[in-house]
Amino acid sequence: MKPIALHVSSELAPFHKAGGLGDVLAGLPPALDRAGVDVRIVTGRYGVSKFASLGGFGALRPWPLPIDLAVGGQTIRAHVYEAKTHGGAATTYFVDAVHLSRGELYGYGDDAFRFAILSKAAIAIASVLARSKGLGPIGVVHAHDWHAALSMLYARTVASAIRGVPTVFTIHNLAYQGELPASETPWLDIGWGDYHRWFEHFGALNLMKGALLLADRVTTVSPSYAREIQTRELGHRLDGVLRAIDAKLSGIPNGIDTKTWDPAADAKLPVNFSASDPEPRELGRAALRWELGLSQGGRDDPPILGVVSRFTHQKGIDLLGDVADAFVRGGGQIAALGEGDARLEERLHYLCLAHPGRIAYRRAFDDGLARRIYGASDLFAMPSRFEPCGLAQLYAMRYGSIPVARATGGLVDTVQRLHNQHDVGGATGILYDGGPDEAGALLEALEWARAIGRDRGAREALRQNAMRANHSWDHRALAYVELYRSVGMPI
Ligand code: ADP
Repeated sequence: MKPIALHVSSELAPFHKAGGLGDVLAGLPPALDRAGVDVRIVTGRYGVSKFASLGGFGALRPWPLPIDLAVGGQTIRAHVYEAKTHGGAATTYFVDAVHLSRGELYGYGDDAFRFAILSKAAIAIASVLARSKGLGPIGVVHAHDWHAALSMLYARTVASAIRGVPTVFTIHNLAYQGELPASETPWLDIGWGDYHRWFEHFGALNLMKGALLLADRVTTVSPSYAREIQTRELGHRLDGVLRAIDAKLSGIPNGIDTKTWDPAADAKLPVNFSASDPEPRELGRAALRWELGLSQGGRDDPPILGVVSRFTHQKGIDLLGDVADAFVRGGGQIAALGEGDARLEERLHYLCLAHPGRIAYRRAFDDGLARRIYGASDLFAMPSRFEPCGLAQLYAMRYGSIPVARATGGLVDTVQRLHNQHDVGGATGILYDGGPDEAGALLEALEWARAIGRDRGAREALRQNAMRANHSWDHRALAYVELYRSVGMPI
């Protein structure tokens, strides 16, 4: 029987996602399954959760009995709904509990408590699985980001059938650590001894820090980011801890689900295309322009620069705002989609008004439009200040849009840098150097990209390389299997 890897994650696409984390939990499990792992996922059920892909919420199998969880002196009753997900390749347990199951995924003052409930539920569910007949052993508990951090503690402290099972913690974004006043500690079932030993950080309670120290192995989503977070500049005040745990820290780049992200079959594109049949993509460009109110290119046909992003400081959207005017005046169009920081949203909105027909911006979270931008833009901007891995550039490449990305984190590990436009070689995109706040470096890169765009041979060679690059989860999953083996999982 296959050994079980129990994943704990606040997000899981297509049910609920705020960013790349949800996509990773969608794409990695089927590849782990093919590699011989029985993947089980514990996640929440929220108001925003969509169950259409399973045929509605009613298609989920409720556990006959609720589970009562002791959290911070309260008893929280949780209902567990089980479903075969990932096309049958994984089993997911949706936890429905008061506090946790609110309308939105995040953004409440008691988020730490909400996700403590999720972490407690994960241990309780693991314990039931460990006692069930007909299942393999629980080989590892694998928690993702700060929301699941407490499961690394509870796996040790809660009396359960899985006490002592090996643990793995993955950092998807170090910027979010679950930092709270120390006075919150009792609510989260962290004893004072454990607080001082694992969680105390500059006088505050830091859930991520605890998980980093408690887990048997820590991974992050690219080798470059694994190195960068050990530096002062990108360590978000945890660099010292990350240097101290260097021996158990590694980076495994994210992959993409090539079935659900396939331009040859994507139902949300107006026309389908592939590397061997790229012609229809032209129609997609015209359709996107029409959809967003960008002027049709005409004879000089300006390149369309795509942007699909959370609007946060991390993503460098402000830098894009700084150069947008120059880029479109030089002959270019911008198709932007994203939401987040209100000031950044407003900035894009005004740019749109200033350049009608040349800059289009939609403030929304819209998966279909995101796909159409990937599948129709010529260039894709990622001026990130830091980037743990980044998935947007992987989708852009697969959909034929050439990334113009700052050389940081996972962007370095996943985009093959173009050095010379007269000798494209295996390059898949444009990586540029420059400080995290340097808009000039971005503009220079965009101008170079525009020049390459006029060179049909170079442009098409780059596009072919980008579309054919293999970022599938299968070979990434093997690195996780190797890691699970190293902590004793019998596989
Ligand atoms: P992060 O996880 O830091 O937000 P990633 O590049 O790893 O960045 O993943 C972002 C994911 O979220 C991609 O799947 C991207 O298409 C999606 N996304 C981001 N913003 C939007 C949006 N406004 N509408 C639709 N999808 C979005």
